[in-house]
Amino acid sequence: MNKLLPEWIIFHVPHTSTHIPEQVRDQFILSDSQLAEELLKMTDHHTLDLFAGDVNPSQVVCSPVSRLVVDVERFDDDHKETMAAIGMGAIYTHAHDLSPLRRTMTLSQRQALLDKWYYPHHRALTEAVNNRLEKYNRCLVLDCHSFPSIALPYEKQFFADRTQICIGTDPYHTPRALALYMLNGFSQHGFTINENAPFSGALVPMAHYQNDNRVSALMIEVRRDLYMDETTGEKSCEFQEIRATIKARLSNVSDAY
Ligand SMILES: [Zn+2]
Repeated sequence: MNKLLPEWIIFHVPHTSTHIPEQVRDQFILSDSQLAEELLKMTDHHTLDLFAGDVNPSQVVCSPVSRLVVDVERFDDDHKETMAAIGMGAIYTHAHDLSPLRRTMTLSQRQALLDKWYYPHHRALTEAVNNRLEKYNRCLVLDCHSFPSIALPYEKQFFADRTQICIGTDPYHTPRALALYMLNGFSQHGFTINENAPFSGALVPMAHYQNDNRVSALMIEVRRDLYMDETTGEKSCEFQEIRATIKARLSNVSDAY
């Protein structure tokens, strides 16, 4: 049975862009080939297509620049962001292997990056969620990610166990029934699953965080070898199959909660 995707889902796709705008290229101390390698390793390749390929654009909030420029998934304040300790707060100073990535940034250069790409992204996400709440009185923010099959040096703090599908949940914003529906669904399709490992949590706009239970949230992290060749960044033959599995789960999510 082919059901349409519920219109109250918002697809948040923060890490799929490989775009480094010309005006910020000189911030990076890597050569072109080193930067290409960094993008290959750090980008959640094809996740826009994988999760939201044919979704109404009003339901999709996707960062237009690479996470190497600004990582919209992090807190803007380094004091709140644990990854800032290893040079990977909202503005990365270090690369996947913990070597230096950028020139030293002044506070105003850092602020300019946030003003241009971080705050507009979060405003767009909040507006998209508000719009769904007005129309449907509910919203699911689906945080769409992928991760490399072998942990990168900066990920060593996370679990070595790299199950194929990781579901991130939030104690307030993820109904138990929703988490189980997604976990069981992927498991029934034969995938190895885990909850909140190696990656945990699910992004919720700050305006709604822990004060609006009409907003639910879930993160899906797909291990990249399931759908792409990690040495080239190209989609593999299995791409359509995993894409269809995700879509089938989401199309029937109204049954879950
Ligand atoms: Zn990601």
